[in-house]
Amino acid sequence: MVVVGGGVTGAGVARDLSLRGLSVLLLEKGDWGAGTSGSSSWMIHGGLRYLEYDWDTTRLSNVDSGRIVTIARNFVSRVLFIVPVLPHDLNNIERVETALEVYDGYQPLKHSHPHRRLTPEEALRAEPGLSPDIVGAMTMEEWGVDPHRLTFANVQDAIGHGARALNHTRVTELVRDGRRVIGVRYRTPDGATTEARARAVVNATGPWSSQIGAMAGVPIELRPAKGIHIVYAHRISNFSISAESIDGRDLLMVAHAGFTLLGTTDDDFYGDLDSVDVLEDEVDYLLQAFERVFPRIRDYRPVRTTAGVRPTLFKWRPNEDRLSRRHELIDHAAQGADGLFTIAGGKLSMYRLMAEETSDAVCRRLGHQARSTTATRPLPGNESDPAPVAEITARCEIPALAVIKLQSRQGTNVEKVLDEGGTSRLLCRCEPVTEAELVYATRHEQVRTLADAFRRVGVAAGPCAGAACILRAAEVVGKELGWSATQRFDAAREFVRGAWLGRAPVLGHAGWAQEELAQGSLRPLLRTNGAR
Ligand SMILES: Cc1cc2nc3c(=O)[nH]c(=O)nc-3n(C[C@H](O)[C@H](O)[C@H](O)COP(=O)(O)OP(=O)(O)OC[C@H]3O[C@@H](n4cnc5c(N)ncnc54)[C@H](O)[C@@H]3O)c2cc1C
Repeated sequence: MVVVGGGVTGAGVARDLSLRGLSVLLLEKGDWGAGTSGSSSWMIHGGLRYLEYDWDTTRLSNVDSGRIVTIARNFVSRVLFIVPVLPHDLNNIERVETALEVYDGYQPLKHSHPHRRLTPEEALRAEPGLSPDIVGAMTMEEWGVDPHRLTFANVQDAIGHGARALNHTRVTELVRDGRRVIGVRYRTPDGATTEARARAVVNATGPWSSQIGAMAGVPIELRPAKGIHIVYAHRISNFSISAESIDGRDLLMVAHAGFTLLGTTDDDFYGDLDSVDVLEDEVDYLLQAFERVFPRIRDYRPVRTTAGVRPTLFKWRPNEDRLSRRHELIDHAAQGADGLFTIAGGKLSMYRLMAEETSDAVCRRLGHQARSTTATRPLPGNESDPAPVAEITARCEIPALAVIKLQSRQGTNVEKVLDEGGTSRLLCRCEPVTEAELVYATRHEQVRTLADAFRRVGVAAGPCAGAACILRAAEVVGKELGWSATQRFDAAREFVRGAWLGRAPVLGHAGWAQEELAQGSLRPLLRTNGAR
């Protein structure tokens, strides 16, 4: 089998097929989870919002979320929302509570608790930053996950069961034999083009699906919708908070382990999928909405933004946020491309189910009898509870926070990672990543660039955004990959430039001052090779 696309869906398909004993090649043009999956709100959720127009997606999403949080139990954390209600909101407090009462019926499917109604005083006691104008609030519970690690855990398990998985490898053509699609041509990072033959090719390229379809001459119609987030490198609140935008859409400020995501927009997107910019207007749209429920939001300093494009199924007319999050599996045999399957639409929260349905269809076509085991089989690092934090802290002499973060990425494999990587020195003063983990990720987790290191272990994810640690990270990765001194500088410079593009739209007054400082500290680096 060839699976094209190493987002969470493609990684899930590769895992499912490998566990059924098939021979799989998984190809990703960038890095694991670096497409839409990584730019999501990092939530495994049931989809309260879809209750208004698509109950079935809410049900499926809750069922599969329950399975995902079980097989990835060491990677997920509870996300507790406060849903504040203001006097002129689209939905008054009774309507909000009615929706949550219905949602409560689904919550046990994903091991979440039912809602509670809070008086304004209770809500303000829990989160004093809320507007004093609130007329009440509800609580609601979802799950948080690092989508990069969730994606990579699926890749890892696929590899563990015999798959080959190549990142930075782009599929450029489909190989045809008359009506049949019999393989792919792909370009490896060194520029070489290679061909792989396969009995089936699965297109799991999310918003890029139509491009792969075009290679086989089959139309795949999507309605791609762009969404951005503002990222804060710390928690603004211990609670996640919802807000209503000026046009009545639901927005979320999500409190993850050590950082906050504030988003998201949802706009039809017609541009270049490989170059999705964040506009200052989009940032203002989000801040305007949150200022209403959380008046001091503009006092907090964001560190960057993220942007992604939803692979939403095509439908004419409804506004973007009313589009269904259903998924569709297309067998292209009927369009004259036997052996090609596309899995499109859906959510991170039901990637496993999408992968299972896709793998079922492929196996049926091949007459392969094995059944899916992904609903109950733990992902690597999630087979049991991790060792107590205090034990690892004492043995490895690293701070408790570093251990907790490491466990959220590696689960039960923490000691293996620390033992093999050697030094327990921290890379950065502000984001506690050990050098050992970076060494391990470079040796065993396909880190090839510093942006890969950011996704795999959180290099430069803290408030310094790389100013204090990116050169050291380049040293550590460069030593493992045999980079020359120039290559190490080039890698750091490339990272700094890429990060700057995501940061510029959110720099306020203090942000620019910080940026001047950071750029100053990296000036010699940025000037190398005559660059200004
Ligand atoms: C702003 C935003 C917030 C969201 N929040 C949530 C959320 O909190 N929870 C949730 O459940 N869902 C959320 N979603 C939806 C969810 O992120 C997506 O449905 C899901 O991640 C799609 O995964 P995917 O693997 O199908 O696509 P992707 O993650 O985009 O993966 C497709 C991959 O294919 C690769 N590719 C493309 N062309 C080629 C080629 N020629 N050769 C090789 N590789 C190729 C790409 O590089 C990419 O990595 C959100 C979406 C957005 C945009």
